[in-house]
Amino acid sequence: MSKISAVVQRARAAFESGRTRPVQFRIQQLEALRRMIKEREKDLAGALAADLHRNEWNSYHDELVYCLEEIDYTIKNLPEWVQDEPVEKTAQTQQDECYIHSEPLGVALIIGTWNYPFDLTVQPMVGAIAAGNAVVIKPSELSEHMASLLATLIPQYLDKDLYPVINGGVPETTEVLKERFDYILYTGSTGVGKIVMTAAAKHLTPVTLELGGKSPCYVDKDCDLEVACRRIAWGKFMNSGQTCVAPDYILCDPSIQGQVVEKLKKAVKEEIFGPIMPIVTVRSLEEAIRFINQREKPLALYVFSNNDKVIKKMIAETSSGGVTANDVIIHLSVHTLPFGGVGNSGMGCYHGKFSFITFSHRRSCLVRSLHKEDPFKARFPPSMPKMARN
Ligand code: NAD
Repeated sequence: MSKISAVVQRARAAFESGRTRPVQFRIQQLEALRRMIKEREKDLAGALAADLHRNEWNSYHDELVYCLEEIDYTIKNLPEWVQDEPVEKTAQTQQDECYIHSEPLGVALIIGTWNYPFDLTVQPMVGAIAAGNAVVIKPSELSEHMASLLATLIPQYLDKDLYPVINGGVPETTEVLKERFDYILYTGSTGVGKIVMTAAAKHLTPVTLELGGKSPCYVDKDCDLEVACRRIAWGKFMNSGQTCVAPDYILCDPSIQGQVVEKLKKAVKEEIFGPIMPIVTVRSLEEAIRFINQREKPLALYVFSNNDKVIKKMIAETSSGGVTANDVIIHLSVHTLPFGGVGNSGMGCYHGKFSFITFSHRRSCLVRSLHKEDPFKARFPPSMPKMARN
């Protein structure tokens, strides 16, 4: 048996021991994860500096804080999420108990990416732990310092068998993907997303694919360009432009193009080298909508306008994983909104309760009494009324 198979089997055996079933155990693990982030904040920031040249402030505010907030929100709400959910009943099931019971799927695999190597690996892990799964973590090899730090820290703070970290490059990820998992959440490029889904199909493993794409940003003539360009520049140039939901290009009327360029330049005047922000001119909202719809569905879409009708029309007539109007990126910080792509930008979603649902099986349960037979007799043969029979 290969080393990777042994690790996955150990995780499965730990899951099958049943210790993730009690909600209190899951909360303890999430508390341990929170303790890990707080106690080892400096080490985590050091890894982010070594991998991505991030400063400490950005490490905390662009990455660690999202995981801490997710953990706090999940710990607070998990006792409610795990409750069975009674459902509306049919006329024939009035005397029965009908409810949805959320149960863990088993062993989940989370494959992370390098641009937010902590958040995009650990945030989905929060939901997988909350739902009671064992989780195999495969950080990106491109952010090697974070990958090796996670492999050191996670077993120090969390259950050693349930949450193994496997490190390595494409050959190791290929080996990991040969194993049977009960769920795979992958973050990365669309091309590798297809490889992951192909591997998952061999075991009929469901997937969430958090992919990329080109997120458009429509700037209406009727908007405060100063504010809009400052917000766009913040989202576009954070993390040196390496943010999956960064606005990728601007669509605007030719009459405001010059002002948009000037105001963006003003907003990024600390920056010497920055990623490129293309501006495509369009003569109307309708043309912008056509432009967006002729392309693959993006992960995020942004629209800036004082006119609510423009915003609502843009939302109604286009598709994307998510939308923020009059700002960028912020929709992903709201725990009650699902985060995910659509079409080429991905499938499935996570964050907050959506993570819990993603990593749970929503089991239909109907519990009937054995004592009341009369109401159900009609279904047994002969079931036709006497008069209709010969
Ligand atoms: P990456 O190189 O970090 O790869 C991600 C993971 O895929 C790694 O663990 C790597 O080992 C594995 N991998 C790479 N090639 C593989 C192969 N041939 N077979 C099996 N596994 C393989 O990430 P990337 O590919 O550079 O990803 C960048 C993309 O991720 C961008 O398109 C970006 O938009 C997208 N992204 C999406 C989100 C999101 O939340 N939707 C977030 C961040 C980045």
